[in-house]
Amino acid sequence: MLRTILLGPPGAGKGTQAKMIIDKYGVPHISTGDIFRENIKNGTELGKKAKEYMDKGELVPDDLVIDLATSRLLEKDCENGFLLDGFPRTVYQAEKLDEFLSAHDSKIDVVLDIAVDKEELITRLTGRRVCKACGASYHVVNVPPKKEGICDRCGAELVQRADDNLETVTNRIDVYEAQTMPLIDYYEKNGNIAHINGAGELSDVFAEIVNAIGE
Ligand code: AMP
Repeated sequence: MLRTILLGPPGAGKGTQAKMIIDKYGVPHISTGDIFRENIKNGTELGKKAKEYMDKGELVPDDLVIDLATSRLLEKDCENGFLLDGFPRTVYQAEKLDEFLSAHDSKIDVVLDIAVDKEELITRLTGRRVCKACGASYHVVNVPPKKEGICDRCGAELVQRADDNLETVTNRIDVYEAQTMPLIDYYEKNGNIAHINGAGELSDVFAEIVNAIGE
């Protein structure tokens, strides 16, 4: 059983580490950002509402996120744990999540707080490119594809996420500091938070995570 939350600013590598965590521990990866992007792609009402906020780098209102995340947690594959990535993002969301979990005799085992400094975050995010088809992630300087603009894995076109331009990135980081960082204190009080240095090599960051979760 592993019930965990990945906390950290945009660009901290949460998505990449999440993939490594789910491979090792076999829990489902629940990314509210991915769920919203899927809804946008499919042109749903929820997608239309969320896009307005996402394109500006702002948070989607709590009431649109909480039900979405908690109903996902009721699905069968979450019985033996889950990895929440990008939720909760406000203290209110965290309180609602705790209420939901305690009503289901459940709780969070560990919160992983991945920290990276602001300048590095901006470099990472503005250089990020993702595959339109398979979602693989690249970086124009740090992880370039073999052929510019083309996914190594599936050959589809690489694009920049609509919210990865400099203006939106800066706003997303400011929003993180103002609205999500207070969660560090919130979980500190519960005594179940582990601080991870996200600046190093992927494998070193993952080793710290495994150390915090336990084999
Ligand atoms: P992410 O992929 O986690 O960076 O999320 C992309 C965007 O989706 C964020 O900038 C928000 O606009 C929105 N979003 C994702 N998760 C949440 C959440 N828990 N609360 C509010 N907005 C969210």
